[in-house]
Amino acid sequence: MKVNIHKHVNFSEKDIEKLSSSIQVLQAVLGSSEFKEEVLKYTYNGKNGYYYRKNIKGDWIDQPYSNEEVYRIIMKGQEKLGNIHDNECDLYLEIDKDDHSTVIGYTYPGDKTIYTYRNWFRSFNAIGYASHLAHEWCHELGFSHSKKKTVRRKHSVPYAIGNMIGRIYPQLKISNNN
Ligand SMILES: [Zn+2]
Repeated sequence: MKVNIHKHVNFSEKDIEKLSSSIQVLQAVLGSSEFKEEVLKYTYNGKNGYYYRKNIKGDWIDQPYSNEEVYRIIMKGQEKLGNIHDNECDLYLEIDKDDHSTVIGYTYPGDKTIYTYRNWFRSFNAIGYASHLAHEWCHELGFSHSKKKTVRRKHSVPYAIGNMIGRIYPQLKISNNN
């Protein structure tokens, strides 16, 4: 799967080096059979699936996709806001120069840009930033999670997929060296 950077704002030369490494990480994981396997076999609460929210009445807040649908949506790479290339991951990135943020970053509805605070960007290694990008890209694809930090939240699609990037990439490196 190809990862395209359509925009990068406020990245220094050194930041761009990290960005390039992160894109390689993301591309390698998204295109791997290990990733496909992990997405498909994911379980929450002993059942095949991710965590999707319900409201008090019991209606779904997040659409409860099957694992197969989650993988298909990711591979299709169809961002909610104007799809440029099918089957590709299209990213619009900006570093927010605020160096004292306690949150990692933010997005705006109706804006494709993924904003990351500079102190967080600098603290990430390439794999960490790749995980963050995968999480935010899942939002672009229409997946969501609660704002509250619950235990279940880490089983939502954005958190689960983001975490998979960091877990799978070191395994890929090992298998490539063999
Ligand atoms: Zn999120």
